[in-house]
Amino acid sequence: MKLSWNFPKGFYRDKPFICKDCGAVEIWKAWQQKWWYEQRQGDPDSTAVRCRACRIRERERKTEARHEYFHSETKQHRFL
Ligand SMILES: [Zn+2]
Repeated sequence: MKLSWNFPKGFYRDKPFICKDCGAVEIWKAWQQKWWYEQRQGDPDSTAVRCRACRIRERERKTEARHEYFHSETKQHRFL
């Protein structure tokens, strides 16, 4: 018997896409789409744009930016 996935909001399937940062071809897996739309309540029009490596890099960049912002804030407050 073939194992079939029964998704409540339609059927997801593996979807290839090209990373907008490095141009690598990545597969957006069906289970990742399900997770994104149903668990994370992602925008139904949104889709994967970055490969795994670039996503990690982007996340680190954002974390770094927040870190710097925090430190510039505390530096200002020290003089108040
Ligand atoms: Zn990439």
